[in-house]
Amino acid sequence: MAQSRRSPPRLAIVKNTEQLTPNMLRVTFSGDELLGFPTDAASANIKFLLPHANQDNEAYRASLQGVGAKPVKRTYTVVDYRENSNELDIDFALHADSGPATLFALNAQPGDTVAIAGPSSAKLVDVTADWFLIAGDMTALPAIEANLKQLPADSAGYVVIEVQEPADQRDFKLPEAIHIQWLINPEPRSGKSNLAEVIKSLPWPEGTPYVWIAGEVSTVRTLREYFAKTKQLAPQHRYTSGYWQIGQDEDAFQLVKRQIID
Ligand SMILES: Cc1cc2nc3c(=O)[nH]c(=O)nc-3n(C[C@H](O)[C@H](O)[C@H](O)COP(=O)(O)OP(=O)(O)OC[C@H]3O[C@@H](n4cnc5c(N)ncnc54)[C@H](O)[C@@H]3O)c2cc1C
Repeated sequence: MAQSRRSPPRLAIVKNTEQLTPNMLRVTFSGDELLGFPTDAASANIKFLLPHANQDNEAYRASLQGVGAKPVKRTYTVVDYRENSNELDIDFALHADSGPATLFALNAQPGDTVAIAGPSSAKLVDVTADWFLIAGDMTALPAIEANLKQLPADSAGYVVIEVQEPADQRDFKLPEAIHIQWLINPEPRSGKSNLAEVIKSLPWPEGTPYVWIAGEVSTVRTLREYFAKTKQLAPQHRYTSGYWQIGQDEDAFQLVKRQIID
C-alpha cells in the first residue's frame, strides 16, 4: 500500500489529453519533477495547486513558495503512474458547474504546467474480505478502476457506478462473480441520485464484506449510516468518503468536512 509522503509540490507538465467518454477527460502529465513519483499510488489522491483566476505566472509561482495568496487546492485520484515513461494519468469528471480544476482540464494543452502535492496513501479495499461492495459516482471512477484491477479472480460481490449518460460506462475486466450495475444520473447536482437506494436494496451475502464508497457527500453519509447502524459493519471493513458536495466548491466543502468526521 502506498504510504502518505510529504514531498514538496512537483511541477507537472501536460503531455496530452484524451476524452475517455463524453464526461470523463484524462490528462497525462510528465516532466522532470515527476521523476521518482511513487509507483504504488493508484487510487491515492493528489492535490492540484492551481492559480487563482487572472493570477499571473509570477504570482502563481510565488504562491507555491508560500508568498501571497495560497494556491487553489483541488483533490484528484492517481489512475496510473508509469515509471518507464514518467507519465501520470488523472481522470477529470466533467461537470456543468466547472470550477478551477475542471476548467484547467478542459483547457489543458501540451506544455501547460501545474503544481501537484502528494500522493496520499492508497485507498484500496482489503482483498482478504469474504465479498466486496464497491460503488460511487464519476468522481470515484478512477479509484474504483484501481480497486477493480487488484481484486483476486475468485472475488464475489457488487460494483455500482453512477455516470451521467450511458456512453460514460466503461468496459472493466471483472472477476466472474462480481456483478456490475451502471446507474444514469444526467444531473449529478440535482440531488436526484438513486445510488444509495440501489445499494440498500442489494441482497447481503454471508460473511464479512469490504465496502468502498465515494461520491457526493449526502449519498455517502446516508450509506455510511446504513453500513454502520443497519449492517453493523465495523470501520475496518469500510471506506466511505465524500468527494464533493452539491452547491459547494471544494474549499467550502473541505472546511465542513474537517468539522464533521468524514
Ligand atoms: C479523495 C478525493 C479524490 C477525488 N478524485 C477525483 C478524481 O479522480 N476525478 C474527479 O473528477 N474528481 C475527483 N474528486 C472530486 C473533485 O475534487 C471535486 O469534484 C472538485 O470539487 C472539482 O473541482 P472543481 O474546481 O471542478 O469544482 P469546485 O470549484 O470545487 O466546485 C464548483 C461547483 O461544482 C460543483 N461540483 C464539484 N464537483 C462536481 C461533480 N463531480 N458533479 C457536479 N457538480 C460538481 C460544486 O458543488 C460547486 O458548486 C475527488 C475528491 C476527493 C476528496
